[in-house]
Amino acid sequence: MVCKTIGLCARVSSTLTLRTSEKKSTTWRSPRFARQKLPKNRKNTCGEFIGPSARTILCKRKFYMNFKYIKNPHNSVAINYSEKPQKCDICQKYSTGYEGPYYGYEDINFICEDCLLNGKLKEKDIEANLGHRFILKRQLKKLYPDKDEQDIETLVNQRTEEINYRTPPLTTFQEFTWPVHCGDYCCFIMEAGKSELNELSSSGNGKDFLKSLPEWENYGEDIQLSDSQREYKEIDDIDWLDIDSLWNYLPLHSPKNESDPVSPLFLFQCLVCKKYVALLDFD
Ligand SMILES: [Zn+2]
Ligand SMILES: [Zn+2]
Repeated sequence: MVCKTIGLCARVSSTLTLRTSEKKSTTWRSPRFARQKLPKNRKNTCGEFIGPSARTILCKRKFYMNFKYIKNPHNSVAINYSEKPQKCDICQKYSTGYEGPYYGYEDINFICEDCLLNGKLKEKDIEANLGHRFILKRQLKKLYPDKDEQDIETLVNQRTEEINYRTPPLTTFQEFTWPVHCGDYCCFIMEAGKSELNELSSSGNGKDFLKSLPEWENYGEDIQLSDSQREYKEIDDIDWLDIDSLWNYLPLHSPKNESDPVSPLFLFQCLVCKKYVALLDFD
């Protein structure tokens, strides 16, 4: 297993066994698609269904620029956008849209962009992503100490619904919660390769950029952590000792299609302070 050799993700090892065994029964197209075969009806310890959430926009065709938290939904290997029209499992019309995974009581494999943008997943309580309400709320409370609880709760609900119900699902090997920074969810930019990191680095050396990059803790199944543990594990700098190993594992370029090597480095950007945040996702 790759993780063990580079020593970067011992914390996710508890989820690796599950993923590995499930992938054996997966129809193999690209490693990234393995996540679609995960159970669609996952529950948290409260018995609530969780998983990959929206706001109603008056009709008229909306384009992907409307996705607040995804920069290029049509051009990312991690997002299963289909240019070829497929039958939408909600409106039954043939249109461009997004394959899953989606999580809820009903099986949904494909949803058109109109239905996604218009909040149809929220109406059916089927989620596309998983926002982290706890961290978001805590950050907002720190940012707005004078706001009353109800106002904070409203912000948390609006932003989390946008992520959970109105954002195309991001497919990853490991279960993850969407990164939060400065009281809002971050925008997914790309799966980064060496050349993109070199371009982002002020020195021209992508390793320097990696060293400065805070890493979002991939909670996955550790979502039941105590408050103090969450405080500690929320976000941290990538361990510089592991930078060389991580670098060696990165592809030369961000994958452009399913046949390109995937990257374990999911790059997000804070919509407020513009800082980049990393999510590491290993097979
Ligand atoms: Zn539809
Ligand atoms: Zn920020």
